[in-house]
Amino acid sequence: MNGEEWTNFRLTEEQEMIRDTARKFAEEQLLPQAVDIDLEARFPAETFRQMAELGFLGLPISEEMGGAGMGYFAYCLALEEIAKVCASTALGLEAHISLCTYLIDSFASEEQRRKYVPDLASGEKLGSFGLTEPEAGSDAGGTRTVARRDGDSYVIDGRKAFITNANHAGTFVITARTDSESSTGTKGISAFIVERDTPGFHIEKGETKLGMRGSDWANLVFEGMRVPVENRIGGEGEGFQFFMKTLDAGRVAIGALALGIAEGAYERALRYAQERMAFGKPLAKQQAVAFKLAEMATRIECARHLVYHGCRLKDQGVEAFAKEAAMAKVVASEAATFCADEAIQIHGGYGYTAEYHVERMYRDAKLCEIGEGTSEICRLVISRRILAD
Ligand SMILES: Cc1cc2nc3c(=O)[nH]c(=O)nc-3n(C[C@H](O)[C@H](O)[C@H](O)COP(=O)(O)OP(=O)(O)OC[C@H]3O[C@@H](n4cnc5c(N)ncnc54)[C@H](O)[C@@H]3O)c2cc1C
Repeated sequence: MNGEEWTNFRLTEEQEMIRDTARKFAEEQLLPQAVDIDLEARFPAETFRQMAELGFLGLPISEEMGGAGMGYFAYCLALEEIAKVCASTALGLEAHISLCTYLIDSFASEEQRRKYVPDLASGEKLGSFGLTEPEAGSDAGGTRTVARRDGDSYVIDGRKAFITNANHAGTFVITARTDSESSTGTKGISAFIVERDTPGFHIEKGETKLGMRGSDWANLVFEGMRVPVENRIGGEGEGFQFFMKTLDAGRVAIGALALGIAEGAYERALRYAQERMAFGKPLAKQQAVAFKLAEMATRIECARHLVYHGCRLKDQGVEAFAKEAAMAKVVASEAATFCADEAIQIHGGYGYTAEYHVERMYRDAKLCEIGEGTSEICRLVISRRILAD
């Protein structure tokens, strides 16, 4: 009995096909460039075009909206396989699908969905999600960007920080206050779709990053940016809940991405420990090394259970899964940093070099404990749910 049968995570033929296609794509296309795009901090635009051709940019989006209609689980399996080899590429894909495309597809009007989702699902346009501000990250209710109504449009002023895909995206979803500038509550926050060429919208270069260096990020600057009223998603003041619900599903996807990093690091460490000789025998024959591998494998299985469970809940249409999503993200992201750290240790000095990939995985893994709700915020979400039950 293999792991998937044992854990009752038997995949459908379609899901297996997506996983295998993603695995082959990652090994053939991503592996040869993963080290270079990290060292050069280069977004692999051509890779995104290839993924668009494979239908990956709209994997879980319905066929009616131009996607592949494969469901969230299949999409997360693809993310996992891609992240095993190149987490930067997985992060760009995740932000495009889980954060931007899904938000519009789930919460926008029929007219807005028809206008924006097909181009995103086909990969004609890349999507981006602007929630974080220089002074409002975990505390997103502290959003300072303001949208003032002026006839048939809103005039938006403010800025967003650390926004993935920003330099390459054509469609952005952002939050802005529509109540008053001095307000800090979440009820006055609205959501807007912003097109790249909107006058008053500028992209400002992002900082140098620790990891995920092959993924793109930048700051968004809005100076008197005029957005038509028809680009507001939902009513005034409804935007915050759309963004928070989007982050629930996003946390499952970041969990899948982290699971991929953990597995990638573990597989490399396992192979190395069996090949590298020291004191007359392979490293893996040293109990101290074998126990590291045992701990890595155990944490990966824990993460897989929680991530796949989150995927199933999402595909079953369960709405209240914030706790499960946060658990999946915490366990998988901490498994990723743990496994990448131990993989470097098992590789010794070679693990400290770019050539062996695990140092990149270590730097990439850290993002998973920060983006889309830090581990502390995820534990806050979990604790609030268990105390309310
Ligand atoms: C590579 C990368 C890509 C990103 N992409 C995007 C994107 O596409 N779109 C987007 O909107 N944002 C994006 N972000 C931003 C990310 O979501 C935020 O960095 C994250 O939410 C944390 O916010 P902050 O950086 O302001 O940290 P802060 O909120 O200032 O937190 C600092 C520390 O304090 C802790 N803390 C804060 N509040 C509490 C509390 N109540 N209890 C306990 N501890 C607390 C945090 O856990 C953290 O450890 C990205 C970030 C990175 C690094």
